[in-house]
Amino acid sequence: MKHCLSVLVHTPAHSQVAKPLSYWSEQPLAPGSLVRVPLGKRELLGVVWDTPDEAQAPNPPEADKIRPLAGVLGGIAPLNAAWRHLMNFSAGYYQRSVGEVALAALPPQLRELSPLQLARRLKRHASAATQAQNSPENATDLVALTPDQTRAIAQFDADTRPCLLFGATGSGKTEVYLQCVQRLLEQSPQAQALVMVPEINLTPQLEARFRGRFAPRYGEQALVAMHSGMTPAQRLQSWLAAHSGLARIVLGTRMAIFASMPTLQLIVVDEEHDPSYKSQDGSRYSARDLAVYRARLEGARVMLGSATPSLESWHHSRPANEGGRYGRLTMASRIGHDQPQDLGPASPSRPRHGLPLVRRVDMTHQPKHCVLAPPLLLAIAERVARGEQSMVFLNRRGYAPVLHCADCDWKSECPHCSAYRVFHKIDRTLRCHHCGYAERVPRACPACGNPDIAPLGRGTERLEEHLGELLADVRSPQGEPVRIARIDADTTRLKGTLASQLAQVHDGTVDVLVGTQMIAKGHDFRRITLVAAVNPDGALFSSDFRAPERLFGLLMQAAGRAGRDAEASGRSEMWLQTAHPKHPLFEALKQHDYPAFAEQQLRERAQAAMPPFSFQALVRAEARTQEVAQGFLSAASTAASAMPETEPWLARVTLYPPVPMSIQRVADVERAQMLVESASRAALQSFLAAWHGALHATRSQAAGRGLIRWAVDVDPLSI
Ligand code: ADP
Ligand code: ZN
Ligand code: ZN
Repeated sequence: MKHCLSVLVHTPAHSQVAKPLSYWSEQPLAPGSLVRVPLGKRELLGVVWDTPDEAQAPNPPEADKIRPLAGVLGGIAPLNAAWRHLMNFSAGYYQRSVGEVALAALPPQLRELSPLQLARRLKRHASAATQAQNSPENATDLVALTPDQTRAIAQFDADTRPCLLFGATGSGKTEVYLQCVQRLLEQSPQAQALVMVPEINLTPQLEARFRGRFAPRYGEQALVAMHSGMTPAQRLQSWLAAHSGLARIVLGTRMAIFASMPTLQLIVVDEEHDPSYKSQDGSRYSARDLAVYRARLEGARVMLGSATPSLESWHHSRPANEGGRYGRLTMASRIGHDQPQDLGPASPSRPRHGLPLVRRVDMTHQPKHCVLAPPLLLAIAERVARGEQSMVFLNRRGYAPVLHCADCDWKSECPHCSAYRVFHKIDRTLRCHHCGYAERVPRACPACGNPDIAPLGRGTERLEEHLGELLADVRSPQGEPVRIARIDADTTRLKGTLASQLAQVHDGTVDVLVGTQMIAKGHDFRRITLVAAVNPDGALFSSDFRAPERLFGLLMQAAGRAGRDAEASGRSEMWLQTAHPKHPLFEALKQHDYPAFAEQQLRERAQAAMPPFSFQALVRAEARTQEVAQGFLSAASTAASAMPETEPWLARVTLYPPVPMSIQRVADVERAQMLVESASRAALQSFLAAWHGALHATRSQAAGRGLIRWAVDVDPLSI
């Protein structure tokens, strides 16, 4: 007897094929089974999908069009119902086809290998599995937890909701994750834990800590990594280990949220506020939000950790009697410092123990055009002389953001983008950071021939040069000249260079480290006693309402780099150069008072009905002309207003007019966007689902002519 199966294949987001396809199979196959199917002239990986109850096996003539499966990937257990549910949800919520979402969630080699090649891999995998040992007696003794840590874990155990672990940098959050994972693995011999970190740069550090703790107990195979820096073969290996249950712990970046883990019981999201949890292309999912969803779906626990939580998570963790849905676990002091006696939320402005002193330099009172204020420079020089390290950061790479002719006002605009090309002195190029277009620096002004064109503003490259000049006479305790290093996307382009540069900082062969936000994140520098933000003001007045939140998080995180060594923390400092020293953001930062900052921001957001008090989606359109891009959006908007008004959610959704994106043109493509907003997430979701067809139809009508691409971004991070 032949069986008719629904099979998902990888379909482009906007293709006509959004649903599973039908195939004949000689044998019944459970949903979640991996198969190979013919599609046109190709043969693809497919996943047997659940068939809706009402769907009957078709009769001729439809039945004659259905082709048989090309093969079954034996040896791999079917993906379970929870995983399939997660794919369906993710596709629906983020407005993508489930075929795209589900197949992209599988390791690429699964798509590429022939059944024979795969069978060989599985054999190797199985032999590795038999070597796995389980020998808790190998384990080294655990550290004694601090009272903060003990309380946080007890609270987590007592709660059943998602929990936000709100702990200063260095307060021992990672140790809490380790403990929670450990207890889980001990309690139930099958249980799996998923631990997520924002960036691959940070995975090696965390992986080393987890490996050190768990490999002696459960064997090397018990922990696998999952991130985009791995080879396809490694990714397949990790995936199989997670899927088979061999791996007890999966440690990965945002993609790991889709890992098949049949016995998942705990999800940890470290640095939960980090923007890199939100995918910025394809299906624009938020791995943090999906973690909360997935935990509920699978009956697993979820812990979100941060020193500067996203305002969404902070708001969710307000007291239950005010509507909070998450637990909040607070750890206020750094390890190695006295615990404050009373941690009640009633004293949020209490200065945090062991955190650096924040000093604001009023740049309006400094010499004109000075890059580094004299007192800051002096403080850096003193540290060099004492053999301590300083970290100076500026969120702009290159030498200068613009090259300028004072005679005719020419500026180094990119011919393909509405942005300036950045001057890179090291190879004397003008490079566009949006489209990559690069040219040699002209000898004279291309417009008027003036040979005297000058850099405007400064980037990290210029700052490094400038510091070298200003600190030329300073000597280390050994009498050596100052050693300055720079870390940004330009210096770390080659694989492995970031790691080696960071190692230099750790070794102490660097006195002053200059860099972009790359250096502010996570790295555990022991000897840094001064951190300086050269020009943080830009984000204070940004049109993006999330800019202050990001800035505060970044500065707190940067401050956290200083004085991680308890012995040095007494004299560690964070310097801010600003023209607005009295700005509430800096006031809160001075107190290391995230709660005060969050309350103030949430008040503003509530007044303006912005997230988390409203829900948003953006429709983005790209075309050769702004007119076409906006025309598509307008037509889509018109289609929305033609929806039957009987739908109760329609009145709760607001569509704003299409506008050009803030960088309107990139690589000769014009970009526009339209905001959709609602006070109700459910209303917004119902609207988007109903509107989806209209967007596709608009695309194929005249209004969509000339459109290059369009996409919906649900819960966008930047507007
Ligand atoms: P966070 O993740 O909050 O930045 P970590 O977990 O990395 O903090 O802890 C900061 C430092 O304190 C680390 O070097 C860690 O090994 C150490 N540490 C953590 N918990 C303890 C503890 N209970 N006793 C002693 N040292 C600890
Ligand atoms: Zn000129
Ligand atoms: Zn460009």
